Amino acid sequence: MAKQIVMLGPPGAGKGTQAKVLSEKLGIPHVSSGDIFRENMREQTELGKNAALYINRGELVPDDVTIAMISERISRIDCDEGVVLDGFPRTATQAEALDEMLGDLNKGQVDAVPCVDVPNDVLIDRLTGRRTCRAEGHIFHIMFKPPQEAGKCDIDGSELYQREDDTVSTVSNRIDVYQKQTQPLIDYYQQQGVLLEINGDQPIEAVLDEIMTALSGV
Ligand code: ADP
Ligand code: ADP
Repeated sequence: MAKQIVMLGPPGAGKGTQAKVLSEKLGIPHVSSGDIFRENMREQTELGKNAALYINRGELVPDDVTIAMISERISRIDCDEGVVLDGFPRTATQAEALDEMLGDLNKGQVDAVPCVDVPNDVLIDRLTGRRTCRAEGHIFHIMFKPPQEAGKCDIDGSELYQREDDTVSTVSNRIDVYQKQTQPLIDYYQQQGVLLEINGDQPIEAVLDEIMTALSGV
């Protein structure tokens, strides 16, 4: 089974939701660039303060900062058996840097890229209804995946909040940024023969089944 996995897809497609389950099923870490940025924002580190300037406007954090952060993370020992990357790479420069990182770490190359596709109107409903847990970033939705108790994470009991970048005005900018900067990676990975096209416009469990079936063929 493939072990260097990159989740691709527009904001709100369900990458994080699926990546968390995949990581548990495959026994390898889930590394989310967005979660790492948000953790740094919460702790008000220099990285967090810098990243917030871009994130709250729905723009991408500069490549050099993002690449250094992910390079440090995936070189840790817990990623030795593989990783589920979620939210990285997002630009051609980041994709090339990832190939280089994996080569330097003797990890071969990206094995599989499930690309979760969802129409834009569905994305907007998913993003504006998303609620995220303060402690661990567990993901809920007010309509599609409501918590048992409103405003409270089912898993760790922490507060659920609406991300500042999940408001209607920022969301449309993020979808534009995805189309311009990240969508070209679909071709990049297709040319490498590792792209797995996944229909994300179906219930969460059905999307997971489709991803697992596609991965078992890699
Ligand atoms: P989404 O749920 O929209 O996929 P993420 O949590 O992955 O969002 O990312 C939130 C924000 O963090 C992005 O809009 C961007 O500002 C920043 N970010 C995350 N990953 C990257 C990356 N690989 N490169 C640049 N910026 C990033
Ligand atoms: P991404 O990481 O791609 O930005 P998320 O996994 O955070 O996306 O999902 C965005 C929102 O949509 C969340 O509120 C999540 O609960 C919800 N969601 C995810 N997958 C589905 C699905 N298949 N059907 C309905 N809602 C979903």
